[in-house]
This record gives sequence, C-alpha cells and structure tokens, in this order.
Amino acid sequence: MAEDFTIGIIGAGMGGLTAAAALQRAGIKARVYEQAAEFTRLGAGIQMSPNAMKVLRAIGLEPALREMAFQPQHQLSREWRSGEVNLDYPFGKVAEDKYGAPYLLMHRGDLHRLLNTTVREEDVLRSKRLVSFDQDGDGVTLRFADGSSDRVSAMVAADGTHSHVRELLFGAADPSYTGKVAYRTTFPAARLGGRSIDDCTKWWGADRHIVIYYTTHNRDEIYFVTSVPEPDWKTESWSATGDLEELRAAFSGFHPTVQMVLEACPQVHKWAILTREPMPAWSKGRVTLLGDACHPMTPWMAQGAATAMEDAAVLSRCVTEAGPRNIEQAFLTYESARKARTAEIQRVSHSNTWLHRSGNTDWVFGYDAWSAPLKEPEPVQA
Ligand SMILES: Cc1cc2nc3c(=O)[nH]c(=O)nc-3n(C[C@H](O)[C@H](O)[C@H](O)COP(=O)(O)OP(=O)(O)OC[C@H]3O[C@@H](n4cnc5c(N)ncnc54)[C@H](O)[C@@H]3O)c2cc1C
Repeated sequence: MAEDFTIGIIGAGMGGLTAAAALQRAGIKARVYEQAAEFTRLGAGIQMSPNAMKVLRAIGLEPALREMAFQPQHQLSREWRSGEVNLDYPFGKVAEDKYGAPYLLMHRGDLHRLLNTTVREEDVLRSKRLVSFDQDGDGVTLRFADGSSDRVSAMVAADGTHSHVRELLFGAADPSYTGKVAYRTTFPAARLGGRSIDDCTKWWGADRHIVIYYTTHNRDEIYFVTSVPEPDWKTESWSATGDLEELRAAFSGFHPTVQMVLEACPQVHKWAILTREPMPAWSKGRVTLLGDACHPMTPWMAQGAATAMEDAAVLSRCVTEAGPRNIEQAFLTYESARKARTAEIQRVSHSNTWLHRSGNTDWVFGYDAWSAPLKEPEPVQA
C-alpha cells in the first residue's frame, strides 16, 4: 500500500472500530474520528453471532471475549403468559461446531472497550464531530465542529443511523420510526435473590416481546431488551431513561419469570426503534458508508452490529485487492458484495419472525466475511 495512503473513518462505534482494526491489520493506514469525548459503559447487552465472531477472531478478540462473555447453550422461544416453549434452538457447542465460531452474549460496553484496544490509540481521535467534507481526485478534506480539518485519501462513514455523511452524499431522509420502543438495561444477577433465568429467552406476546439473557461468563449480570408499541415516542438516545412502572405495566400479564426480572431491575433506558429501506447506493467517489449509516435495522434479529462488522471485513478485503489507486472501484466492489445480504437481513429483522417457531440460521451464522465472494460492481447509470 502507498506510504501515505490513509483511510479516514467517521465514528468509533461497532463498525468504525472494526473497520479500522481490519484495515490496519491488512497494512492499510486508518484513522478514526469520533464525535464523543469519551465512552461510557451504558446498560446494554449485545449478542455476537458466529458470523460476527469470525470477524472479531481475525482482529484478535476471540480469547478475551470467550473469557468475558456468556456462551448460552440454547435460545428459547417462549409464549408470553404460559412460558410454553415454541422453539429450543441450540447454541453452545452445537452452533460452534456447525458454524466454526461461538455464539456469545456480552455487555455492549465491554465489547466496545475491547474493540478500542484493537486500534492504535493515536489513531482514534475523540471530540471530532464531522460537519462537512470535500472530495477531489486525490483525497477527501474533512472538517470538524471544533474548527479543525484533516486530509485523508478516502473516507468510510460509520456514523450510525442518523449518518450526517449519508445525508451529505445522498440527501436528507429521516429513518422511519417503527412505532415500537426498546426498554433495556443490565443489572447484577444478585438482585434476583438467588433465583436464576434461562440462558437466553425471547418471550413472545402478540404485539410486544422481551429478550432476557446473561451477559457475563460467570452469570453475574442480566440484560433485557423489549419491544413495546408506543406510537408517539421518538427519542433515540443512549441516556434517555424509561419509567419502570410503565414498563412493568406493559408486561403485567407476562409469565412470573418476566415479572421477577422486571421487579428486580433498578432502572431502565428507553430507545425508539428506527429502520430504513435498503439504499440503492452506498458510495460516491472516495467516500462510502458502513453499518447503520447505510443499513440500519430493527434489533429483533440481533444483527445490526454483526452486519457492520461483516462490512468492515469485506471492505478491508476490497481495499487490499484493488490497491490505493483504485479506491473508488474498491468501494463499489464492497457495496455490491454487501447490499443484497444486508437488505435481506433488514427485511427479515423487520418481520420479527426470526427464531420464533422455527428457523434456519445457516444463511446468517454460516457467512464468513473473510471468504464470501466479492461481486463485480453493477454498471453505473449515466
Ligand atoms: C435495542 C438494541 C439492541 C441491539 N442488539 C444488537 C445485538 O444483540 N447484536 C447486534 O449485532 N446488533 C444489535 N443492535 C444493533 C447495533 O447496536 C447497531 O447496529 C450497531 O451499533 C451499528 O454500528 P455502527 O458502527 O454502524 O454505528 P454505531 O455503533 O451507532 O456508531 C456510530 C458512531 O458514530 C459516531 N458519530 C455519529 N456522527 C458522527 C459525526 N458526525 N462525526 C463523528 N462521529 C460521529 C457516534 O458517536 C458513534 O460512536 C442493537 C440495537 C438496538 C437499538
């Protein structure tokens, strides 16, 4: 790779950090610009399925994740009131043997902290909110809210669902609100007073659900995330809190195990669930999008971060293969290799049927971003 060739990545979230780590490991210079001044461990769990774990393995995180995270033996799909099991889907060793990587559950903040260690510290610049950029035949000039600017050879925007870069590239269009909110939190399992939960369960009601699981290897922390109808709530913020009494009322008829968990929970965050239709294009010239910036999805399939990580691996392969002189081609190959898959996952996730009564997870968990075919880009319309 040319000595001074550098990719600027906007956003040090799940996708941005993974992309930086993958590029750096391939010998490509990458620098991340993040608007936040610091990162905090907010109450949220995250599921890392085998397709995501194969990416995380290649950037060196598997041993630390195995030590820290919880490996469920199965995921249960239960009726909301009776607790009747509709599906007992094997994870644990069965999934690991089948897909070549484990299915792990963890605290999102712990994963983010580990992802940070995979990128050279001096290459993650904080308090850098991108406000505008210009590109020409040689590179991209980035401008930040603090008045500073920087010059990179190409830019990858991993700036999340409300991506400013997406707006600058393709015009403003708000993501659509699903009419559902996610209440979510983590709390010490000791608050259950010696009682326990299943490894990982989704409790299905008619118009709402709750997923409950352990987030740590030694089962000392519990996480839950809900989907509850609420037509008028539009706030999507990591720090917005929800009303515990409203949450408990929303699940009042649910099985006693659900009631027990909600009673034990000390506080909860509330988050509007947004989505967006698949986009026809992700790239323009030396700029491309990655993760939620180009394919935000409902969390009901637990694949948002996983697909952002897949993007990161495929992107690094495309840049490596095409070389710095062909970066525009590399970005087109990347998006054409990724669009159909991410659009299908967006669609299935939105239908909220994943692992309800049956399921074939092969097409999702069996994917290996390091060896998946790279499709030729579609011809650009004049
Ligand atoms: C309730 C819920 C549960 C979920 N559970 C799962 C799960 O179990 N498994 C899973 O795989 N996915 C899950 N997801 C999805 C997952 O959280 C997202 O898909 C993932 O975080 C997307 O990663 P990203 O890097 O694209 O964006 P983000 O992680 O959102 O990162 C974007 C980053 O860009 C920064 N940024 C934004 N604008 C700018 C700017 N102008 N300049 C500089 N920096 C900027 C932000 O501060 C942020 O750090 C869940 C989502 C929700 C809402």
